[in-house]
Amino acid sequence: MAEVMEYGMFIDGAFVPGDSGEMMEVINPATREVVARVPRGNKHDVDKALASARQAFESGVWSDKKPEERAEILFNAALMVVANKERLSYLESLTSGGTIRRTSTVDVASVAASLAISAALIKELPKVEHAMCPPWIAPMHSYIKREPIGVCAGITPWNFPMILAAYKFAPALAMGNSIVMKPASITPVTTLELAKILHDAGVPAGVFNVVTGPGSSMGDYLAGHPEVDKIAFTGSTAVGRRIAEQAAKGIKRVTLELGGKSPLIVLEDADLDVACNMTLFAFLFHSGQVCESGTRLIVPRKLHDALVDKLIQKIKKLTIGNQMDMATDLGPIASEDQLNTIKEYVRIGLEEGAELAYGGRVLTGGIYDKGFFFEPTIFVNCRNSMRQVREEIFGPVQCVIPYDDLEEAIHIANDSPYGLGGGVCSRDVAKAQKVAAKMRTGTVWINTWHVLRPDVPFGGYKESGYGRENWYHALMAYSEVKHICQDLTPDADDKIMFSLIGLNK
Ligand code: NAD
Repeated sequence: MAEVMEYGMFIDGAFVPGDSGEMMEVINPATREVVARVPRGNKHDVDKALASARQAFESGVWSDKKPEERAEILFNAALMVVANKERLSYLESLTSGGTIRRTSTVDVASVAASLAISAALIKELPKVEHAMCPPWIAPMHSYIKREPIGVCAGITPWNFPMILAAYKFAPALAMGNSIVMKPASITPVTTLELAKILHDAGVPAGVFNVVTGPGSSMGDYLAGHPEVDKIAFTGSTAVGRRIAEQAAKGIKRVTLELGGKSPLIVLEDADLDVACNMTLFAFLFHSGQVCESGTRLIVPRKLHDALVDKLIQKIKKLTIGNQMDMATDLGPIASEDQLNTIKEYVRIGLEEGAELAYGGRVLTGGIYDKGFFFEPTIFVNCRNSMRQVREEIFGPVQCVIPYDDLEEAIHIANDSPYGLGGGVCSRDVAKAQKVAAKMRTGTVWINTWHVLRPDVPFGGYKESGYGRENWYHALMAYSEVKHICQDLTPDADDKIMFSLIGLNK
């Protein structure tokens, strides 16, 4: 068994022990072996990290740097992320269960790209924008500047720990903010590793901090803390609602990336092989533990049986197992709690009258007995009103809903509290685009899925959250806009605004 790694929290530019001295165990979900220990933080640790972030912000050591200087450091960090690709992807896979095939390609590249693109964008952003002087009043000059918000809190889930952290800290740092990150309790390791990389790249002490500990106590305290000016949260809609309440009390800026139950509409003209692969990729990538997974398959009644047969045949060819093996297609479920949630939703589905066409069981035997593995599962004859169809499961479970006409299909797709992702499968480009335009979701994929890019915005409609991550939308979400207005007339009597109350008499 590999050595168990010990981490401290990252506060004020150094790894430090937690206030309580207690530690939390981090396990490999494929084997349940303990692979790391991190401090179980408490309110004192949050106070300490926020004090450091505030001090760093007020000192101007980062916030007053020229955008070009910050950009250079963030570019450096991007290069160092790539140079540390093996270590980062190994640790991400080991602790989150994501396959090494994915983490060593997509995840590391996404983190580096978030940093590099945020750095490139701040160099491009106009430093000031000038407003026209209206012709009907005395000479005045108005200009507009963007400034950092201050101290941000970034709270992230366990499914893509590094990527979702980078979606927050890259734009936050680019705009000159300080940030305190709180990763999910079961996957804190790579966020701590990134702290070291950012520090070594030149991000000054106190600007980037990581606290580790339970969300319900420490995360809640962080979100409600008066020293936090902006909260960036990715996680469940239930916790997101609580964060929004906390933000409302302090009128804090907030971005919420929450849950989803994304619909995939197959059109009648679709190529069945494309529809099959698109469906499988949509609901099985990362064993279904993706917020924008396509988990409501809305399919023409006449294609239903042929498509479901194809899905089952293809599922049988997938390799499910050790995420550390390059040959593995689907890794474990990230935790026992999540495995139990999936089991419970399968029970609910059966109780609601859906039929199991495939799967539905915890995998057992061999490697499966050691960790948390669930069979790819397909429910057929679902109605959109069923609980397992409406609620997010966050596992490899597909719900197939047959339809008779396209208007009905679009209605079913939009009849959801969520609005994160959506997809259309068709050979008819024009028709697919018309359907995409009618979907009430933040992203729509046509004949593909899971394409998230640092140069396009990502976020949800409805209860999937508000605000957008990535691209310049993210930079806007980590900055305040200031209008500075200067009256250019020198004499008191010429200042036309003052005449409104007779001051130039
Ligand atoms: P979660 O909401 O349970 O936890 C997310 C984070 O919030 C964790 O760090 C947790 O410790 C912390 N937390 C928990 N309670 C808190 C509280 N009261 N105050 C402050 N912080 C608290 O979510 P999860 O189980 O880690 O992740 C799965 C969820 O995340 C799913 O609903 C999924 O859809 C969502 N998600 C959304 C996106 C997106 O971009 N929209 C991406 C990935 C995951």
